[in-house]
Parts: sequence; structure tokens; C-alpha cells
Amino acid sequence: VGARVTVETDAYLCMRCEYCRKEEFNRCPNRKGIGTTTDGALADQLVMPERAVHVLPANVGLVEGALTEPLAISVHAVVEQSPSLAGQVVVVVGPGAIGQLCAQVAHAVGATVVLVGRTRHAEALQRAKDVGIPYVVDSETEDLERIVKDLTGGYGAHTVFECSGASGVVESSIPLLRRGGRLVLVAFFREDPHVDIDAVINREIEVLGSRGKRPSSYRTALRLMENGQVDLAALASVRLPLDSWREGLDLVAAGRKVIFDIT
Ligand SMILES: [Zn+2]
Repeated sequence: VGARVTVETDAYLCMRCEYCRKEEFNRCPNRKGIGTTTDGALADQLVMPERAVHVLPANVGLVEGALTEPLAISVHAVVEQSPSLAGQVVVVVGPGAIGQLCAQVAHAVGATVVLVGRTRHAEALQRAKDVGIPYVVDSETEDLERIVKDLTGGYGAHTVFECSGASGVVESSIPLLRRGGRLVLVAFFREDPHVDIDAVINREIEVLGSRGKRPSSYRTALRLMENGQVDLAALASVRLPLDSWREGLDLVAAGRKVIFDIT
């Protein structure tokens, strides 16, 4: 009692399907998620099974702890759904919380990371630069394809992580990739993206989905935090008292990450 913890966000898992038995909870067809397919955690109390609760390492603050879930999603995409990225050139498109964390995790595992945003993301791109992401690119004012080609001897990136949810990005990601490269889809799309299937075939591009996270993603995320291999403080830029919940939820709707301070 009284321990500082973070929790996984599964509201219901059948624990009977083949996926559940392997702790691949994100693949359970009967899964319900807190705040997505069932009511969220804006409640006085929340009951969770013990297996979904992780004690925060002593050197990890509560604010950083609140970001374990997006970090776990990024760990799932970058570590669990990808072969080793060490030594590879990796492009992350979309500098929201998930994109920033995918960039940080890819950097931590030894990839050369290019994080891409638009002009309106200048602040987020600067934050990424401040935490050590070597290349940040404004795709509206800079020639992204040229930059990636220059970094790779003309071949193109090994992997692109799509974290923006902008439907046009899928199409424009294909020419960034080398032949045999991999496109990992992390964000959901409001509008169906168009994909040049001929280019996918001719260039032997692998397209892979990455959805949510698993207990293993949480364990790795907490280890990365404990070892200081990721910097979450910069992402927790908007902190509000609970009384300002309306303003906070409006910011969330506008795509910001907001942390409510209830202490
Ligand atoms: Zn299941």
C-alpha cells in the first residue's frame, strides 16, 4: 500500500486465447482498453489486477511514470516489432509523444535517427534536438528525401516509423526507404492512406503494423527509464491541476500530451 506504480491499460482480457496465453495481450480479440473501448480512468478509484501493476523504479518520478504507457507503445514498435536497428538509419515521421519516444528508443538502441515534423511542430522538434536526436527535419522547409539519401550513400533509410497518422505520409515514406526497407505503421489514420502497391512490390518494401503494447513492453520501458536511456521530462511540458480538466482535455483533443497533477 502506498507504492508508486504505473498500470497497463487493458480493462478486459479473456486470458484464454492463444495470444493471452503468450502475454501478447495487444492481440487478444476480446480485449477492452481503458479509455478507448470502455470508460476511462478519470475516476476516484480504479481496480486493476496485480499483474497489470508495475512499481516505479526509485529514481523515476511520478510525472515520468505517467508516460510509461506511450513509452511502452514505442518500445513495442521499435524493439519488439523490429529487428535490431543498431547501425541503421531510421526515419520517424510525426513528433507527437509516440513519435518522440520512438525516436528516443531507436536512438537508445543504436540507430541513427531522423525525426520529421512540419513547421507547426517547431517546438516539438527542438525538444527532440535537446534530448540528443541527431537529425530533426521540417518537411515543409527542408528536402527530407535529399537528407535521408545523403545520410545513406543514396540508398535510403532502413526503416521508417509512421507516427503521424497523416494519410499522405504512407505514400511519401516509400521513396525514403531503401529496397527491402521496412515501413512500420504505429499511428492510426482518420482517412485511409493511399499506397503505391507497385512500389511496395518492386522495391520489396515490408509493411508492418504495430499496435499498443504488452507486459514485456512495460518491463523494457521501465528499464530504459531507470537507466536514464530515455528523457521523458521534456515531453511532460503541459501539467495542469485537476480543476483545469476542461482545458486539459481540449489540449488532448488538439494532440498535446497533458499530465494532470492530483497531488
Ligand atoms: Zn485473449
